[in-house]
Amino acid sequence: MEPASFEALSLDVPLLRALADEGYERPTQIQRDSIPPALAGRDLLAIAPTGTGKTAAFTLPILQRLARESRPGPRVIRALILTPTRELALQVETSLTAYGRHLALTSAVVMGGVNMNPQIRALRKGVDILVATPGRLLDLMQQGHVKLDSVQVFVLDEADRMLDMGFIHDVRRIAARVPAARQTLFFSATMPPPVAELAHTLLRDPARVEVAPEPVARPRITQRLMFVDQKDKFGLLVSLLHQFAGGRVLVFARTKHRADKIVRQLSRNGIRADAMHGNKSQNARVRTLADFAAGKLRVLVATDIVARGIDVDGISHVINFDLSDEPENHIHRIGRTARAGASGVAISFCDHDEIEKLWQIARLHDEPLPQDTGHAFHRPAITSAYDDFAAVRVGGRRAPAPAATAHRREGGGHRGPGDKPGRPRGFGRRRRRGGHRR
Ligand code: AMP
Repeated sequence: MEPASFEALSLDVPLLRALADEGYERPTQIQRDSIPPALAGRDLLAIAPTGTGKTAAFTLPILQRLARESRPGPRVIRALILTPTRELALQVETSLTAYGRHLALTSAVVMGGVNMNPQIRALRKGVDILVATPGRLLDLMQQGHVKLDSVQVFVLDEADRMLDMGFIHDVRRIAARVPAARQTLFFSATMPPPVAELAHTLLRDPARVEVAPEPVARPRITQRLMFVDQKDKFGLLVSLLHQFAGGRVLVFARTKHRADKIVRQLSRNGIRADAMHGNKSQNARVRTLADFAAGKLRVLVATDIVARGIDVDGISHVINFDLSDEPENHIHRIGRTARAGASGVAISFCDHDEIEKLWQIARLHDEPLPQDTGHAFHRPAITSAYDDFAAVRVGGRRAPAPAATAHRREGGGHRGPGDKPGRPRGFGRRRRRGGHRR
């Protein structure tokens, strides 16, 4: 019979503790089938779509193997995980950080679409596990920033998508630079002939595992983008909070100052909220989070610095009052909702000054965020400005920059004329005074 617990899969205590922290009670089928052969050092051919728990199926064995084989001296890349998209790369790294939180291993992401220098700095410091998209990895290899000659475990994640996106030659070139005496874990949602052929050339006597395409715990995050003037953001927030009465809402602001201001203005409008940011004491943060988790506090306003620490189930909505300065943070922010198999909604406000940030975020997603024009503060002029901006930036780029015109009206969002709520007190009454302190 298949083991029904993580303990029965012979995972070490630091990993079992991390899985308990995540609230996972038992392994999914792909984890039950993949982890034992992977821990035994075998190659793996796994047919598993997203949402089945496949990321843990390959990251847990890697973390266990590398932690057991840790040795003194400078860190070198001992595991390489290739993903087709930047978004997936970030999700894999988030999982590595979560499952490896009680271990001393390090990981980094290299991917296109964002500045190379922080990635080069991270590589210089030394990492045990590298998560990469193929194009940027090859660039960094050519520049001499990445050496793959110590890689022991090589993972191809979503191999079918990798081929669909035209990465076959890049993948082959990278695979040729990884030592032949390695373990290869090959994951794909489907296995059409070209994918099977690639698997055949990369794998040696693999254990074959397959799960039905029925996902067990797909994170269902519906994103909605709202173009709104800075002065109207607070009014929009209040109207959404009224719509979502009963939900648990996490609001992100760009700075501590703005987070505190939102909390003050909400309380003046009769909505109880609290702030979480770097200026709050550890005790205050723990108390606030406990209140939020217990449902005593319905609205929490946070900054990026504390985003990853907010591990609360049942967050129904994430509202990006301001877009993040770092596009990667957008993914960490929206990942606070739709946890433990639930669904969630992530709404992003964007004013005229945030167009470039939105473009960066859309590039990370490889697609535009669905626009919701059915709110009382919609500003068509920002949509046009965004489309103009994206059109100019497309020229000469490898990845096309997505335009915003994927208009959508979502249930409940539309208001007729005259529905416009009275302007709430506070935000937007004065003109903005330029940049805020962080
Ligand atoms: P993945 O297929 O790797 O994208 O995982 C889909 C979702 O399932 C992610 O949100 C994981 O956090 C979650 N997940 C993975 N393994 C488990 C598990 N054993 N129990 C509950 N949730 C899980």
